[in-house]
Amino acid sequence: MLIWPVAAPDAALTITAGMWWGNAESAGSANRALNRTLWGSEKCSSRELSLAGVNGVESGTSSFDVTVQRLSPRAAVFYGDPWDNAIVALATQKGIVVVDAPFSKTIAQGFRNAIQAEFKRNDFAYLINTHEDICHIGGNEAFADLPIIGHVSLRSEMLKSMNDPKRVTNVRGIGEREVARSRERLLRNDPKKLEEHGYGDYEKGWQIIQADYCENPAVVPPTITFDREMTLHLGDVTVRLIHYGYAHGIADIVVSIPEENLILTAGVFYPNHVPITGKVTEEAAPAIVDNWFVVMHGLLNEANENTRFLASHGRAIMKKEQYQQFVSYLEELWNGIRRAKSNGKTLEQAKAEMPLKDFPEVAKLSNETLRGTEWEILDIHQQNIEHLWKVLGR
Ligand SMILES: [Zn+2]
Repeated sequence: MLIWPVAAPDAALTITAGMWWGNAESAGSANRALNRTLWGSEKCSSRELSLAGVNGVESGTSSFDVTVQRLSPRAAVFYGDPWDNAIVALATQKGIVVVDAPFSKTIAQGFRNAIQAEFKRNDFAYLINTHEDICHIGGNEAFADLPIIGHVSLRSEMLKSMNDPKRVTNVRGIGEREVARSRERLLRNDPKKLEEHGYGDYEKGWQIIQADYCENPAVVPPTITFDREMTLHLGDVTVRLIHYGYAHGIADIVVSIPEENLILTAGVFYPNHVPITGKVTEEAAPAIVDNWFVVMHGLLNEANENTRFLASHGRAIMKKEQYQQFVSYLEELWNGIRRAKSNGKTLEQAKAEMPLKDFPEVAKLSNETLRGTEWEILDIHQQNIEHLWKVLGR
């Protein structure tokens, strides 16, 4: 699995409704111009298009919008499309630490510029990658002057991808399919949205990415890797990186910053849908899944009611109670599947024993963010059971 979006196009529209920034009027006309020329047959000519931005962050010849939410004097989260990436940066005594570099060089450079502008300093010290999806590592090139830290499996995944001749075509196809799908869906259900600023930002983001990919972008793997856990001691701030893996991506890590009471949960947990295990879960050994809960309970033990849990896309911030519910949900599934297996039950019987309604705090979530994308899952819960069932079948 290359990628796993969470803030799908119209979810992003929902999330940002009422807080789209910039001038909607000029955005509308810029977007209409853009829409005529984007995703045509000459897909690699988009670099020549005007990417005049709307109150955006200048990044080379392009611009796009990044908004900032300050979490504390030294921590902030930077939001930008597509998929409403939530990039956390920490301005520590030992330099600025950035977590994840989305999609492509120009997109990530836009975030870097926004971070520099917000903190009014440019002493970038480290980039951390939370896992192998393109919305987390695709822009590493913009931070290639820094040490880049990630799990050892992330480095090997990225080295592998360097030798894949289809890599650029594959990643370029993501944007093409995404835009085609969201356009088709909005045309059918809510065509006015196509004229709105939020949609324009979304499509403009893909256009920038497309232009970068047409230049055959470099793969920039981590230069510092770790196996289980690593801690950065940065004067006033400690950054703990803990691997659990094979849940959303192979290289999943959690980033905990105790001095900020902040935990970055990366790919599995989002406040508005049932926790999603990825297809990659099926490759996990049972001990790896057991270790998820060691890691997650460790975080819960250190957390309090003021701890903020941030996902890597979207703007809602989770509290300890919700994270606890999510962890309990996955753990109960895992225990239930173990029980069913040892009692000789079939997968269908296991599913029948663990209906989603038995997890009311999770069942009430809308799951709308993936709707209409190629990652739409109509029943996340059933799929979670299937993934975990295969772990025990190994
Ligand atoms: Zn991901």
